[in-house]
Amino acid sequence: MTTTNGEHARVREIHRRIVAAAERGKWDATALSYYVGQPFKALIAAMLSAQTREEHTIVATRALFALADNPADMLALSDEQILRSIRRVSYPLVKAAYVRDICQKLVERGGEVPQTIDELMTFKGVGWKVAVLTLAVGYGRSEDITVDVHVLRIGIRMGLIPRETKKPPRANDILKIVLPRDLWAGWNDLMVRFGRAICAPTYPKCKICPINDLCPKIGVEKPAR
Ligand code: SF4
Repeated sequence: MTTTNGEHARVREIHRRIVAAAERGKWDATALSYYVGQPFKALIAAMLSAQTREEHTIVATRALFALADNPADMLALSDEQILRSIRRVSYPLVKAAYVRDICQKLVERGGEVPQTIDELMTFKGVGWKVAVLTLAVGYGRSEDITVDVHVLRIGIRMGLIPRETKKPPRANDILKIVLPRDLWAGWNDLMVRFGRAICAPTYPKCKICPINDLCPKIGVEKPAR
């Protein structure tokens, strides 16, 4: 897939308008945005956020980090304490076990969170998406673009990603071509917020969307009235 200067210009204008709309509308921050530059918290928050609503991830991470903010202290918590803190996330029992396993491995490494996707993915509960998110949020590293349901859905609607694309790593490869490099790091955060405020999974608010004239609305059958 190749891209043109014209497409980069369209993407830059899309980005500019969505950022402006987010500021005007004071769109809610994402759960992960609270942990920028904090690799341990970013890792735990990213793992907990999988298949979980943002507001539930925010409540869970705040409750858990209020009890312990480093691997050794978190490992010392009881199962009951961890479970009670994260009970609103999806699959809390499984994720409570992941929390303990991640903390155990981090303690064995002297508390340092790995800085590569491959190493991170050896941890239980950490797949490609969680690993990329951890590196981006925790370490400010953006060799890849975190692709979740929002990034994929909106990318297809905007015509950035082919409609048949299903797998996040493939969508990442495509986005790395169509997005200017300096937009990679913040793209996931912006799309999550945009997806909650405007480009919802069902009934996207195309009528009031700041990029209505720039978006081909691919696959959108029922925009909100
Ligand atoms: S115009 Fe509609 S489909 Fe396109 S980004 Fe806006 S809300 Fe989403």
